[in-house]
Amino acid sequence: MERIAVCPGSFDPITNGHIDIIKRGSNIFDKIYVCVLHNSEKTSNLFTTEERLRLIQESTINIPNIIVDSFNGLLIDYARSVNAQAILRGLRAVSDFEYEMRITSMNRKLDRDIDTFFIMTDNSYSFLSSSIVKEVAKYHGDVSDLVPSVVNDALKQKFKQL
Ligand code: ADP
Repeated sequence: MERIAVCPGSFDPITNGHIDIIKRGSNIFDKIYVCVLHNSEKTSNLFTTEERLRLIQESTINIPNIIVDSFNGLLIDYARSVNAQAILRGLRAVSDFEYEMRITSMNRKLDRDIDTFFIMTDNSYSFLSSSIVKEVAKYHGDVSDLVPSVVNDALKQKFKQL
């Protein structure tokens, strides 16, 4: 049986922390769907879904067993539609735990056959988030070692326009 996982997120934008999780997951699962989910809690995205998809696509070009996609709806419905048995998430600090626990227990209630797996972040990415990257880039701070170069360029472009 093919081991299929969905790695969902906002990816606004994708960072080296996300890529680390996707890469390590790709060594364990046969196929990973990296899925940009339209999250109703987060309404103020910097990048459009199309831009986020392109940035993920370009920065994961070297990982062969992943598929980049987007979905508007329940994660569990998406996971079922691609025959995934697993949801893959990254964990950073304790602060992630409660949020992840809430989502995981709800997803488990919705479908007990789809399990959530967590990979602990690499130490160097413990405090890295898309929002902190945006905050620094907004004031033209250097984030080049925290994001893929295509994302660094896209951030520069975005904040030049504002
Ligand atoms: P969401 O809006 O669902 O939290 P994100 O794009 O912020 O989406 O994150 C997607 C996944 O990537 C989550 O599991 C998150 O914990 C994980 N993640 C984000 N940043 C990092 C990082 N620096 N290291 C490891 N995992 C991370």
